[in-house]
Amino acid sequence: MPAMSDKKIKTRFAPSPTGLVHLGNIRTALFNVLLARKHGGKFLLRIEDTDQERSKPEFQTALQEDMQWLGLDWQEGPDAGGEHAPYNQSERGDLYQKYYDQLIEKDLAYPCFCSERELKLVRKSQLSAGQPPRYAGTCARLSAEERQEKLEQGGQPSLRFRVPKGDTLEFEDAVRGKQSFNTDDIGDFIIRRSDGTPAFFFTNAIDDALMGVTHVLRGEDHLTNTPRQLLMLRALDLPEPEYGHISLIVSDEHNPLSKREGSQSVRVMREEGYLPGAINNHLARLGHAFEDSGKFMSMAELADGFELPRLGKAPARHDAKQLMHWQREAILHADTNKLIDWLGAELDAVPTGEREAFVNLIRGNINFPEEVRHWLDVLYTELLDYPEDAHNWFKQVGHTYFDAALNALEAAPNNYKDFIEQLKTESGCKGKQLFMPLRMALSGRASGPELAPLYELMSEARKNERLSNAKKLAD
Ligand code: GLU
Repeated sequence: MPAMSDKKIKTRFAPSPTGLVHLGNIRTALFNVLLARKHGGKFLLRIEDTDQERSKPEFQTALQEDMQWLGLDWQEGPDAGGEHAPYNQSERGDLYQKYYDQLIEKDLAYPCFCSERELKLVRKSQLSAGQPPRYAGTCARLSAEERQEKLEQGGQPSLRFRVPKGDTLEFEDAVRGKQSFNTDDIGDFIIRRSDGTPAFFFTNAIDDALMGVTHVLRGEDHLTNTPRQLLMLRALDLPEPEYGHISLIVSDEHNPLSKREGSQSVRVMREEGYLPGAINNHLARLGHAFEDSGKFMSMAELADGFELPRLGKAPARHDAKQLMHWQREAILHADTNKLIDWLGAELDAVPTGEREAFVNLIRGNINFPEEVRHWLDVLYTELLDYPEDAHNWFKQVGHTYFDAALNALEAAPNNYKDFIEQLKTESGCKGKQLFMPLRMALSGRASGPELAPLYELMSEARKNERLSNAKKLAD
């Protein structure tokens, strides 16, 4: 793919709605969104639902919701509309017919009457002779009379594209560079199945051309489809998009992703509490190297830093720890109101007026909504279970420390700075000795939110109670 030309670019995502969308697939959508945004272009969503048995409207609905949730908005496609509607391939049958007719007219497509059984047998013998399996061309040579005869006998032919022999097909892949295929290695392939439904190769290429798609970023597994698709587009004199085949995502062990490692659906991850920013920041780095790789980025920043030459050829390694890192970053960077929504009913115990302060207090200490519960206990329930560690600290400083703390609390119930000054002076403690028993007494943990906002958010009565309880355990 050469440097971006002046013409407005249009990218697309073309999923088949046969299940919930997974991390691997949604990364393809994300890359196409980023490429379009980077160049002020358009991103199009097309639903490839020609497999009527496996495609389900509910999967399309779920996909659209998941994409919207992630902020992968499309400017053309279902719901958004556009000049190339409809955007569901199941509704585009008439459009395809025109191009089938053109290919038939040019004798570049022919009916094939071979049965599944016959094709299987040929494949088997090719494989056992060490040859790559490809269509032997049986029906390519049928005369008009022979075809007619087979039709009269009730034959239900598929339609095959006639691949030119002895040619070389070349194209420049945005990720993998120059590609060259010998057409003799490509057997004539099916563009319409015997039941009349259009085949993927065909609809996918025709629609990219008709919809004005300029750039196609898609999985490496489609690389060998591209020469077939280009042959058809060239035969029909239709415009070709520029293709870039992105590397697949693998686990640390170079295996395809397992469920645990992140092949889980976006839907399930959302239910588990992952934030869109975490998923986008994680995926944007799988197979693409940003200049500022450590920085948590908004969608606009991701788009800004996205560049085709930065897409890698090597398999992209998914590391669950990385995803968790971006989850923490996403929580730190989120709007307070977004986090309040994210935590939902978990915040029921927090008085409405304190929600913002509470969320800002604990945002650095949780990865998922349910982890908020400990901090709810700290601030809003009476008894804390102190771990062994806490007992040790309490004993180390003794009850005089807590007497001093209770005095300081009375003097400065809502001002941490004054409180800690007085506690320091009166107890004579400093450093860890000053802070750890206090942190333990108030929160029951050795680490957590900053003490100042924790102190200031907790009610005076609650602080009094915690410090008094700690005092009882101090001797
Ligand atoms: N429907 C195809 C798929 O989901 C689209 C492939 C492509 O992006 O061209 O694999």
